[in-house]
Amino acid sequence: MNSKKIRTRIAPSPTGFLHLGTARTALYSWAYARHFGGEFVLRIEDTDVARSTQDSVDQILASMHWLGLDYDEGPVYQMQRLARYHAVVEQMIAAGTAYRCWCSPEELDAMREAQRARGEKTRYDGRWRPAPGKALPPIPVDVKPVVRFANPTDGVVSWNDLVKGPISIANHEIDDLIILRPDGVPTYNFAVVVDDWDMAISHVFRGDEHINNTPWQINMFNALGAPLPAFGHCPVILGEDGQKLSKRRGAVSVTAYQEAGYLPEAMLNYLARLGWSHGDEELFSIEQMVAWFDGSHLSKSPAQWDAAKLTWVNAHYIKQADDARLASLVAAQLASRGVEVAADLRLAAMCALYKDRCSTTVELADWLAMYFVPVAAPADELAAQLTDAVRPALAGLRTRLADLPEAAWDKAGIAQALKATLAEHQLKMPQLAIPLRLLLCGRAQTPSVDAVVALFDRDTVLSRLQHA
Ligand code: GLU
Repeated sequence: MNSKKIRTRIAPSPTGFLHLGTARTALYSWAYARHFGGEFVLRIEDTDVARSTQDSVDQILASMHWLGLDYDEGPVYQMQRLARYHAVVEQMIAAGTAYRCWCSPEELDAMREAQRARGEKTRYDGRWRPAPGKALPPIPVDVKPVVRFANPTDGVVSWNDLVKGPISIANHEIDDLIILRPDGVPTYNFAVVVDDWDMAISHVFRGDEHINNTPWQINMFNALGAPLPAFGHCPVILGEDGQKLSKRRGAVSVTAYQEAGYLPEAMLNYLARLGWSHGDEELFSIEQMVAWFDGSHLSKSPAQWDAAKLTWVNAHYIKQADDARLASLVAAQLASRGVEVAADLRLAAMCALYKDRCSTTVELADWLAMYFVPVAAPADELAAQLTDAVRPALAGLRTRLADLPEAAWDKAGIAQALKATLAEHQLKMPQLAIPLRLLLCGRAQTPSVDAVVALFDRDTVLSRLQHA
């Protein structure tokens, strides 16, 4: 297998957004392919026709694009490959590794009921499985058959899992699973085998909820004479409460984090560490990850989601991010609040001034909104700060600012106007700066006040100081 080209895939079902767990497996599969100069395939497993939607497909593709997990092939849609699955089914029936089963749902219920009554594990009892000398039941007229895989009845299925190590399951533990439904749509376990075979997938990384499916899949690969991929099953991601990460326990989709102002490089960095490590490295670029990621050091035990750590990672990338890029992200955030702002040099300068104190672009937009929409400081704070001693100074400052030549409307020019006002009114900086901030920004704490004021439009400043 080592001489084979490395080909990995991610195979989401379009029944919802791209889940964080799937995004992590996509990242591992992608990084593995990139590390070894192989190829990465995107497959859409849309055979759950009732629950699959185009909207989910669009969201999944958009999230993959946003994360930058580019694929070399795909998206391949399983529902466009039905003819291929049917051909393989026919091949298997002819070879005796699959057979039709005409059990009605009622018959299956009765079978399980009887097994439960006898205290046995419920399983298909093989009544339609052909065997030499065995008489099969008469074919009912009103039942559409399914096709079942004739799972080997003895022996053991074993594989050396890339994450979990050696795993073995005895064949007598598993029954003959349905591979084709009465409506001709294949089941997951069968379609996945045909696809991984046809797409020459060499390594399968996926969530460990699929460990129980793997023995069937290995048996089918063998029945088809297809080369086996290597399997790596990553443990679930737990929520902060120690339960499986689920929608009910907070955001689980990549889209939600995108909307909440996280950067894709932060998500990749955080997801990479959630189940994989490279020494003590916490902050690394995707290029570094690709250079390091060879499938080793994947964690066997479940990782726990840590929102505070993700926020910390994101804050790091916000600080590093290019200001023009932040400006367009903030402009989009503001637009979603109905505030239309150009992502221009001024907005970029604002991002530069505030990004050190923000963990997300939403927080950045929270800060920068004051430059574009009216603000209201808490009334009690304003009353305490806007004293009669300060009012004349604010009025004086307003006049100085109104008189500043256009070219002097910058940090230095405004610092000069502040200094002159303080001297004239015998005040200390905080006595003037705090009420000034409250009036302009609606809050008492900001970065350096001269820099903050310089980014305002002069008319806005003059009008906010008018009522001082
Ligand atoms: N469609 C399956 C899922 O979303 C894919 C599992 C696999 O990778 O084999 O869980």
